[in-house]
Amino acid sequence: MSFVTGLKCKECGQEYPIAPLHVCETCFGPLEVSYNYAKIRAAVSRAKIEARMHNLWRYRELLPVESEPEIGPNSGFTPLVHCRRLGAELGLKQLYIKDDTVNHPTLSYKDRVVSVAISKAREFGFTTVSCASTGNLATAVAAHAARAGLKCYIFMPENVEAGKIVGSTIYGAQVITIRGNYDDVNRLCSEIADKYGWAFVNINLRPYYTEGAKTFGFEVAEQLGWRLPDNIVVPTAGGTILPKVAKAFKEFKEVGLVKEGEAKIFSAQAAGSAPVIHALHKGVDLITPVKPDTIAKSIAIGNPADGYYVLKVVRESGGWGEAASDPEIIDAIKLLARTEGIFAEPAGGTTLAVAIKLIAQRRIKPDELTVISITGNGYKTLEAVAGSIEKPFVIEARLQEFDALYERLGDGKRATSAA
Ligand SMILES: *Cc1c(COP(=O)(O)O)cnc(C)c1O
Ligand SMILES: [Zn+2]
Repeated sequence: MSFVTGLKCKECGQEYPIAPLHVCETCFGPLEVSYNYAKIRAAVSRAKIEARMHNLWRYRELLPVESEPEIGPNSGFTPLVHCRRLGAELGLKQLYIKDDTVNHPTLSYKDRVVSVAISKAREFGFTTVSCASTGNLATAVAAHAARAGLKCYIFMPENVEAGKIVGSTIYGAQVITIRGNYDDVNRLCSEIADKYGWAFVNINLRPYYTEGAKTFGFEVAEQLGWRLPDNIVVPTAGGTILPKVAKAFKEFKEVGLVKEGEAKIFSAQAAGSAPVIHALHKGVDLITPVKPDTIAKSIAIGNPADGYYVLKVVRESGGWGEAASDPEIIDAIKLLARTEGIFAEPAGGTTLAVAIKLIAQRRIKPDELTVISITGNGYKTLEAVAGSIEKPFVIEARLQEFDALYERLGDGKRATSAA
């Protein structure tokens, strides 16, 4: 039932069959899934997609699975929220948040990529799945592996948030933390993948895994009424999601689901881990790795595998990128929560903080339709903001105590005279 034609090297174009392969043997370039778009164009329509279940599999013709999808029945098709209050604060009339804080089952964009990777791991006949993770991938792999009935090994840096360790172990996964940063974890996992032959969703299954990220872009276009935004701001860690949002927009045009339009694509990184933004600002192609140091741990990757493609896509689209400091990230998390009732993790604070800079630079203009990508939920990273919020008042259970407090807060007079 699939429209996949094979794997193809992004650099030299060499073709490979569908297999658990991720690098080109000739030039070491990354492999990507290719499709027969003419056939897809004949097979899909807006009406057909609109009639389907509200999950990422509504775009199955553009995803690399053969079998009837069973993994991720509640993943994807998250809300695109029209943000009037935040928009008013930022001076934008058409501001939208693509809200993956409510992606299921593990509250981040990673439920998308993992649904596809684990579906593919099953088709290939793997019995053990694994990943190198900054935290959100860990929880997603652990949850989806449990549902698929696969054995699961998770590798993360030792300093990840508690919610990500508990949120992986609970599903029965074997969790191993590494004394080192993500880039150390990733290097070790490449060796383990070679030696043990497991399905590492973001290593040997990477071509399939990354395809799942397109669904974030497909949904934005469908939810805008089958058109593209003028601007979209996307976080960058390893560099998966940003180029895949661009691929999603291109494919929708290719198969006739979207008629026209060009979106400017903007990259957001945390200042403490911004190797792609440094290269963008310097105007060079070479990304110099950094040692990450930021509260935005889920996007703290110092040596991004697909950073080069982020640069390429951002430049070709006419977009740009900025980095946000930890205090700016925290302020943005609070602003989003206070204006729209959306509690993002630091990756989301990063995209919003960067969007604010891009508006100030007039790279994003007031009358344009702008989408900010919020990719993870703040309840998994409470420690990132716990130290920067007001402490609650503590009083005895007596009305006079509350009356006195209310008076002190200064809201009392206004409320009483209004009544
Ligand atoms: C993984 C992740 C990203 C983006 O990572 P890429 O590797 O660039 O796709 C963004 N936000 C959150 C919350 C993540 O967990
Ligand atoms: Zn090649």
